[in-house]
Amino acid sequence: MSRYWSAVVRGLTPYVPGEQPKLPNLVKLNTNENPYGPSPRVLAAISRETADTLRLYPDPNADLLKQAIARYHGIEPRQVFVGNGSDEVLAHAFLALLRQPLPLLFPDITYSFYPVYCGLYGIDHVVVPLTDSFEIRVDDYFRANGGIVFANPNAPTGRLLALDEIERLLAGSPDSVVVVDEAYVDFGGVSAIPLVHRFPNLLVVQTLSKSRSLAGLRVGFAIGHADLIEALERVKNSFNSYPLDRLAIAGAVAAMEDVEHFERTRQAVIRSRRQLAADLGALGFAVLPSAANFLFARHASRDAAGLAAALRSRSIIVRHFRQPRIDQYLRITVGSDEQCRILVVALREILGNG
Ligand code: PMP
Repeated sequence: MSRYWSAVVRGLTPYVPGEQPKLPNLVKLNTNENPYGPSPRVLAAISRETADTLRLYPDPNADLLKQAIARYHGIEPRQVFVGNGSDEVLAHAFLALLRQPLPLLFPDITYSFYPVYCGLYGIDHVVVPLTDSFEIRVDDYFRANGGIVFANPNAPTGRLLALDEIERLLAGSPDSVVVVDEAYVDFGGVSAIPLVHRFPNLLVVQTLSKSRSLAGLRVGFAIGHADLIEALERVKNSFNSYPLDRLAIAGAVAAMEDVEHFERTRQAVIRSRRQLAADLGALGFAVLPSAANFLFARHASRDAAGLAAALRSRSIIVRHFRQPRIDQYLRITVGSDEQCRILVVALREILGNG
C-alpha cells in the first residue's frame, strides 16, 4: 500500500494464477495446459511472420484471424471478437455488457476471475450456489439480473451443463446478456455457438490456450450477435488498439486451420482422462464427471492440502483451492500418459504410507 495508489487500486483483490515454477523435471498438472505441442503449422507461421514485418504494427482488427475463426465455426467475421487471451475478452465483456444496474449472477464455484472483474469494474453481483453435486440448476437463475456468466464445462469442477438447459436459461433471461465461457468445451462439451443465431443475448467465449495448446501465445475470442461484438470493439478500441501482436495473429490463424492436429490431440487428452479417472477411482478418490482437460477429485479419507503438499515434494504440482465447499478437492490437469502414470505411482506411494 502506498499513498500514491488510487482508491480503485486500494480496493482491488487481484486474481492469483496457478504458479509457473521453473524447476527441472516438474510434472506440472496445475494450470490445465495441453501436454501436446501446438500444430507445427503454428510454429512455421510464426517464424514466417518474424522475417521482416515486426517493425510494423499488426492489423488492429486481426481480420485474418476473425475470418479463420468464422470459417471454422460457420458464422460471419462480424460475429467474432478477438483478444489477448480469453481473460482479456472476458474483461471487456464484463465492462461492455455485464456492468448493469441489476446484479450479475454467477455460480459460487466457478472461474475465480469473475469476482475479480466485478471488483475492478465495480459490478454488483450475486453468487448462486451449485447443487450438492456441483451442478448448475438453471431455475436458480430465473430472477431479476443484469447478466449471467458461467464456465461450461465449469471450472474447477469439470461438470457440463447440457445445451438444452443453456437454451432454457437464455430464453428465461431475454433482457440480459448470458456469457458462456467455453475455455474447455473441446474436451467433451457441446458448444453453444449455434445458439447465437437464435439468441441475440448470448456471448460465447473460447480460447486457444487449452485445446489448441497455445497458452503462451495469448489468444481468445468471443462469438455472438454483431451488436454484442460491437460493444466489445468499443471497449477494446478505448483500451488497446493492438491487443494481438503479429506473431499471435499468424500463429492463431494456422492453429484454427489445422483441424487434423486439433482433433487428434484433443481425442488423446479425452482418452487419457478416462484412464486417469479410473486410476484415481481405484486409489479411493471420488472423481466428478469431467468434460474438461482436468479432473476434480476428493479422496475418501486423506486431506487434500496434505496430498497436494506430498505430491509437491515429489515435484508434481496439482491445484488445490482453499475455498469453502471445495477445500477437500484437488484439480488435476490431464497430462501426457507418462505424466499421468508418474502421478498415479506417486499417489499410490503417498496413500500407502498412511
Ligand atoms: N476461462 C476459464 C474457465 C479458465 O480456466 C481460463 C484459464 N485460466 C480462462 C478462461 C482464461 O484463459 P486464457 O486467458 O488463457 O484464454
